[in-house]
Amino acid sequence: MRITMIGAGYVGLVSGACFADFGHDVVCVDNDPSKIERLRAGVMPIFEPGLAELVTGNARAGRLTFTTDLAAGVANAEAVFIAVGTPSRRGDGHADLSYVFAAAKEIARACTGDTVIVTKSTVPVGTGDEVERVLHEANPDARFAVVSNPEFLREGAAIRDFKFPDRVVVGTEDAAARAVMTEIYRPLFINSSPLLFTARRTAELIKYAANAFLATKITFINEIADLCEAVGANVQDVARGIGLDNRIGSKFLHAGPGYGGSCFPKDTLALIKTAQDFGTPVRIVETVAAVNDQRKRAMARKVVAACDGSVRGKTIAILGLTFKPNTDDMRDSPAIAVVQALQDAGAKIRAFDPEGVEQAKLVLTEVDYATDPYDCVAGADATVLMTEWDAFRGLDIDRLGKAMAHPVLIDLRNVYRPDEMARRGIAYTSVGR
Ligand code: NAD
Repeated sequence: MRITMIGAGYVGLVSGACFADFGHDVVCVDNDPSKIERLRAGVMPIFEPGLAELVTGNARAGRLTFTTDLAAGVANAEAVFIAVGTPSRRGDGHADLSYVFAAAKEIARACTGDTVIVTKSTVPVGTGDEVERVLHEANPDARFAVVSNPEFLREGAAIRDFKFPDRVVVGTEDAAARAVMTEIYRPLFINSSPLLFTARRTAELIKYAANAFLATKITFINEIADLCEAVGANVQDVARGIGLDNRIGSKFLHAGPGYGGSCFPKDTLALIKTAQDFGTPVRIVETVAAVNDQRKRAMARKVVAACDGSVRGKTIAILGLTFKPNTDDMRDSPAIAVVQALQDAGAKIRAFDPEGVEQAKLVLTEVDYATDPYDCVAGADATVLMTEWDAFRGLDIDRLGKAMAHPVLIDLRNVYRPDEMARRGIAYTSVGR
């Protein structure tokens, strides 16, 4: 199949490289020339484990090419995937669809034969209808079908998620488009990944419903963690105790500083706005978003409390800045709110992250960036473990304690054991234990 991917970001680049690895002929288009230049030179614009090998291998084999020229990229494609960003619109929280519609217009003008246009970006219900309208308006003669194919990959495990998905959702009622989508995803049948065909609007909603459900699960266990602290229970045992129930499941039950990242915050907000517009508010999700928002600054208060009630003039070391391990993505990371709240309270911040520092520098100024975990904590009055990178799971705690001015550790990911920390003389605070 000849596939064109519009947008070579976390989703477009991974999807494009995986499709090429399946044997399809893939062109990745991005309107950021520096991204395309780097990709052509074999340099990854993002950090994602395994991506560099996948991209360079398929580029060398001639199945994966990169261009800024959308018209040339689209001209011969049998399927064009739109994988551009859909961030929160400033001011009202609706999904900003301007990138999607701009891409659709350009695609329409460049289409030649029958083309399946696939929205892979996360878009609100009804966007497929709008994309169809935009395409018709821009090129009334073009022959195309518009399909919804939301993406569920997780950053940090994106390639595995793409190649071994729990399911692939395809929203279309067009028989020819269905056949094209089946052919594109045929290599997955060997892994028995189910291809779920639905109506287009249903597919669009499945993506938001999935993310809202997962955000709810995280927020639920976070509130239970607070209750555990109040009553003297252990949230990890509670999570295990409920997670072993098959109806509940053990995933997404890790208490922490609140969800963040490039998807959950904006997608919950967009779902809330869509539901309000249709007069059927999703009040559970509204509460989840509000609780999660408040939680981030509450985590900063936890740090202040661990520092005897004040961080003014104190140096706080932050281990981990990205919203989760194995990515360099800083979008909506809880670390941003925690660092800013600590700075507001008068703290000096030193921070280290294995991959996220370049991105972090764009959002967090007035931070002293360290080169390794021990350099980060040297002389600090307290250390906050913000992201559970593997590099922070086996720290030499004695060395850490000695390097700090005061051996205070606030572990917002429950990586360490309270009894072990007490034995090593660390004043230790975690979440829900
Ligand atoms: P991203 O910002 O990393 O990538 C988007 C890319 O599109 C950028 O490189 C940008 O330069 C390019 N672009 C924008 N307009 C363009 C145009 N007209 N022509 C060519 N290129 C253009 O975004 P992302 O994280 O890959 O997310 C893309 C979509 O996928 C979003 O809707 C997101 O919600 C969804 N999604 C993301 C993830 C994730 O983990 N990041 C997971 C599932 C779904």
